[in-house]
Amino acid sequence: MKDGGMEFRPDADDPKRVHIKGGLPEGVAQAEITFRARGGWPGSRAVRRSGAEFARLSTTTLNSQGGWEITSTQLALEEAAEYIRQVRRRLEARDAEIRRRREAVDLRCPSCGADRAYIGTLGFITANTRILSDEPSRLDQHVVQQHAYRCESCGSMAYFADGYLPHPLPGGHRS
Ligand SMILES: [Zn+2]
Repeated sequence: MKDGGMEFRPDADDPKRVHIKGGLPEGVAQAEITFRARGGWPGSRAVRRSGAEFARLSTTTLNSQGGWEITSTQLALEEAAEYIRQVRRRLEARDAEIRRRREAVDLRCPSCGADRAYIGTLGFITANTRILSDEPSRLDQHVVQQHAYRCESCGSMAYFADGYLPHPLPGGHRS
């Protein structure tokens, strides 16, 4: 089950594992919390939270040589719960910031005053020129996806690069 940047397995009510990909402290790329009970090999096994004695936190960070480093620490159950609460708070703050940015975009056509409508993504082809020529090099072409909004009165367009904000934006009705 996914919850923003967190995934609870097998379920959120009484998980054994929590995969965390967003809302992490600075420098941590991903983290996993497993709930554990003593016994078995190698000394403890993953169990549901309700039957757990402690938790293990594994974090993946980028070290100074540019390689990935995994660190494991044992946590008390209350510390694991607090870690998850902090992740949830960071995810909520991130969502609120994205909502604020989306709502701040003005989609009104400057000529007509009407809201531009979302017409989907358009693939823009970009290219470099061939050597000593104005012709585009066939090998250097890329398609760049742009979210496009069009004024239905005058046809003027607004474009947003893919990968920044979720689209369509709230100000632009779907055509
Ligand atoms: Zn217009």
